[in-house]
Amino acid sequence: MPKANRAYNFNAGPSALPLEVLEQAREELVDFRGTGMSILEMSHRSKVYEEVHNEAASLLRELLGVPDGYHILFLQGGASLQFSMVPMNFLSRGRAAGYVLTGNWAEKAWKEAQVLGETFVAASTKEEHYRRIPSLEEIRFGPDAAYLHITSNNTIFGTQWKEFPDTGEVPLIADMSSDILSRPVDVNQFALIYAGAQKNLGPAGVTVVIVREDLVERGPKDIPTMLQYRTHAKNNSLYNTPPVFAIYMMGLVLRWAKEQGGVAELERRNREKAQLIYEVIDRHPDFYLGHAEPGSRSAMNITFRLPTPELEQQFLEEAKREGFVGLNGHRSVGGCRASLYNAVPLESCRALREYMLEFLRKRG
Ligand SMILES: *Cc1c(COP(=O)(O)O)cnc(C)c1O
Repeated sequence: MPKANRAYNFNAGPSALPLEVLEQAREELVDFRGTGMSILEMSHRSKVYEEVHNEAASLLRELLGVPDGYHILFLQGGASLQFSMVPMNFLSRGRAAGYVLTGNWAEKAWKEAQVLGETFVAASTKEEHYRRIPSLEEIRFGPDAAYLHITSNNTIFGTQWKEFPDTGEVPLIADMSSDILSRPVDVNQFALIYAGAQKNLGPAGVTVVIVREDLVERGPKDIPTMLQYRTHAKNNSLYNTPPVFAIYMMGLVLRWAKEQGGVAELERRNREKAQLIYEVIDRHPDFYLGHAEPGSRSAMNITFRLPTPELEQQFLEEAKREGFVGLNGHRSVGGCRASLYNAVPLESCRALREYMLEFLRKRG
């Protein structure tokens, strides 16, 4: 069983947060930095809040190496609203936007773009049940495409891009909701990156958008104010009341990430954690049936099945009794899934590995 009263948390999102972060939030909840009130109760225009807000943005810039020339925005509406905001702002008339279909979230993003303009499928692995990421050669788009949209990590199917296409003048846009901050990326390759916070960055309620300034400038002005990136860029994401608590918590997570050694160190740990589980799958391929092709495997979400639905059911039920949480696959695909985001400790992964081996000994 896990230590103290903390579960082995493998939830896909919202997901585990670092214990130190939760403890600090508890510590300063009632009297935030000597103000006599919690951060939930003060003006978002106050100096105290503004510091929290700006610190979160500058930590994100530092950790991800976001260059000058990019805005960092804190928005609401989840990654799902970005499925609409991206085409509203960048899918101009007379052009078509390319979507690479690698899973449910990519399909949802594509569906919203179709409401708003012309689109095309630049590549898809749907026919192969999204077991892999298409190779760069498979991706088709012309130089006049409005943009190319990809999903860097496919939370439901457990696949992850290892390298990103060089799109030249065509803006590359990525949904990084489930792997942002889990590994270094070269932000310069992207025109826009978006991510709901609730997987790797903090609690639900804030969505991070990193976007090239020149694209924001060129965006349309004949769409609602709140849906223009310009509005939020011009106002330091303080045009209206931001989700103050979520941004504060994200700031604590970012500080924690920096203390851990930054993104390169987090990547090293994430690989080590994922390796523990993939090794079990690879050594017992007739019992633990991995969904993703090895070359496309995600370090964040590990998806697998067992030989029969009955065994799967048993595996999940016994796991629950042992203190494991969140191991069932997404409702749309079933099976099992372990999400090993940044805040999931190595010990949880060791425990899961032991549990998988033990279950195999008993029922294999
Ligand atoms: C979770 C997730 C989403 C949806 O995020 P919301 O913030 O709930 O809208 C979108 N894309 C990916 C890749 C995700 O993992």
